[in-house]
This record gives sequence, C-alpha cells and structure tokens, in this order.
Amino acid sequence: MAELGTWTRAMRSGLGTDTSHKAVVPPIHLSTNYVFAAPGESSGYDYSRAGNPTRDLLSDALATLEGGAAATVVATGLAAVTLLVEELVPVGGVVVCQHDCYGGTWRLLNHHATRGRLEARFVDFNDPEVFKASLDGASMVLAETPSNPLLRITDLRAVAEATHAAGAQLVADNTFCSPLLQRPIDLGADYVLHSTTKFINGHSDVVGGAVVTRDPETAEHVGWLANVLGLTAGAFDSYLTLRGLRTLDARIRMHAINTEAVVDAAQGHPAVAALHWPGLETHPGHELAARQQSGFGSLLSIDLAGGRPAAERFLQGLQVFHLAESLGGVESLICHPATMTHAGMSPEARAVAGIGDGLLRLSVGLEAAEDLAAAITEALDRAQGRGESAG
Ligand code: PLP
Repeated sequence: MAELGTWTRAMRSGLGTDTSHKAVVPPIHLSTNYVFAAPGESSGYDYSRAGNPTRDLLSDALATLEGGAAATVVATGLAAVTLLVEELVPVGGVVVCQHDCYGGTWRLLNHHATRGRLEARFVDFNDPEVFKASLDGASMVLAETPSNPLLRITDLRAVAEATHAAGAQLVADNTFCSPLLQRPIDLGADYVLHSTTKFINGHSDVVGGAVVTRDPETAEHVGWLANVLGLTAGAFDSYLTLRGLRTLDARIRMHAINTEAVVDAAQGHPAVAALHWPGLETHPGHELAARQQSGFGSLLSIDLAGGRPAAERFLQGLQVFHLAESLGGVESLICHPATMTHAGMSPEARAVAGIGDGLLRLSVGLEAAEDLAAAITEALDRAQGRGESAG
C-alpha cells in the first residue's frame, strides 16, 4: 500500500476515528474532566487544561506538517512565545530577536527586559556580523521569516548554524508561511511557533497558537510546561482551528494566484515608493526565499511615496480590503503598521526597523483576483491625488 503523504495525513487528522457513532468528523470533546476507573487509574485524559482529545488532533496535524516530534497547542501566538521564553530562557538570560519582528513579540520581550527578567537584543538578522556578535550569552534566538511587515527574509540555515555554535536554541516564527510554504525544522530550527490565528485557522474567527518541537524529549517538557503555566488552548478553538487547517493547502494555492494579481496592479504605479514582496526579483531576499520557501506567500507591503497623507487617501473608500489587524484569513485585509500592529513598538524602534508612516501591509484573501487588483489600482490612483475621491 502506498504511504500517505504529509499533507494527506495532517488533513485527515482524526477523520473516521469516532468509536461511539462512527462519525466521519471527530466529535468535539468539551468536558473539562474525565472519569478515573479507580484512584490513580486515568483513561489518559484527566483534566482538560492538561490534555484534551480535540486539542490533541490539532497538535498531531501540526507536528506532522512541520516535521516535528510533537506540537503543543496554546491559547494565542503570544502564549507560544511566552511558553518558549519560559522553556528556554533562565532568569537573566538573553533572547536575540529581529529588530523588525511582530510588534506584540517586541512588546512582550521588552516587557520582560524592562522588569529585569531577561535581556532582549533586537538586531538585524540580515547582517551576519551583527547577528553573530549579538549571540554572546544567548539562550534563545527568535527568527521571524518573512518578517512583519517588511517581508525581510532570514537565512534559517545560516542562523541555525551560528545559533547552535553559540550554544543557543533557534525558534522560528512560521506564521507568515505556514508549514506548507516553509519547514524551519528541516532547515535547522529547534522549535517552530505559530500564531494559528492566521493561515492555519484561516477564517479569522479563532485566536490561537502552537509550538512545534523537533526533539521528542523536549517536546514532552514543553507540553508539561504549557499545562503548568495554564497556556493551553480550549476545545472549541482547537476544533475550529483543525476545521480551518483541513483547507489550508487549497487556500494557500488561491492566495498565491490572487497575490500575483495584486502585485501586478501595484508594481510600477507612481504612488508606490517601494513594494515589498519576496516574489519580486528586485526584493533583496528573493533568491533566498526561492530556496528556503516553496512559495512567496500572500503578504506584501506598499510604501507610499506621499507618506501618511497618501496612506489616508489610499484607505479612504478602499473597496474589498478591510482596514484591520491580523492576516492570513480568507478575507483581504490591510493594515497601517505604524498605528496598528506595530504601535506597541517605540517610534525609535520603528524607525530602526524601517516602518514608516506611509507603509501599508496587505494580506491578500480569496476574493476574485480582478476585484482585488481593481481595488488596489483605484486606491493607488487616489493616493497619488488622481481619481474621484482625491479632491
Ligand atoms: N507572530 C506573528 C508573526 C504575528 O503576526 C502575530 C500576530 O499578529 C503573533 C506572532 C502573535 O499571535 P497572536 O495574535 O495569535 O497572539
């Protein structure tokens, strides 16, 4: 019999396993607690914070897709960061993170640093010398690639090598790619973290997170710690996220088609000062992305030549795209990082990271490609002072 491929195994997680009624879709287990046969004789599940069958199906699917030993499903993407900080960083330890990481990650690490829990070093991962110099005494390196919102690409293989040589562990935030476009463990990462809120669930109706661990022994400890810290996800959220994950492959393919249409509409428009998308040959990380990813993703950002006033004109009356945080859902979204996702960063940190007031980040959804392209062309015309609502 032919062995099933990774996607098929993950996509079918739990299907047809119901022993009560032979339901095709595994039922959701909402019970907070489980009957013991006798004192000390648990069925394998005792209390839902510690273990839940619905959550375990999602964990299995994620571990399969990322090629890890196991996954721990937690309440949010930031809970996944918290879990890894607690797992890897002793009090007074050092975390090295990209200077242009997700604003919430920056705020979390900065909070711990301000309170003296750890030292957070935010550096440019695209500068190998600066990166290597930052590793002294580090226990955790957090790489987010492509980065949010500028889509910079980090060489995971090179970063893993330097991280391990310095005695630290590499965590890759794979939220932007999903395991279908990038598998950081294959490239040397020790842990993968996800905000499953994004592509994994894909329907913008669950906030969730996960940590996938390469090593089986460590994986057990990470799962134990998530229970100890009270970070694990609820059954409903796990159920919905697994339902969303079952269509991930189909969604990623259509996201890619639509993103090309949006990029084509934006490229070369005079209102655009810079277009950041790793699929463009002009993107500094294009070759690396082509090597380490199996697609360029559906996030892009547009730096408008006219700064914030142009961004406001662009957004006024924008069709199809909603102005909202988050990304990776079926619906197209646009955000203004300086006042939204990255408002938690200090203005100085934003300036260092290159996040200006004219920058807009787009998450291209699954609407008809021609409607998305038309909306962007109209908005760019407005940004430039052309078109109906400009005057
Ligand atoms: N990592 C990245 C790259 C993100 O974009 C986000 C959220 O936007 C997070 C982590 C945090 O995830 P959550 O919002 O699910 O806590």
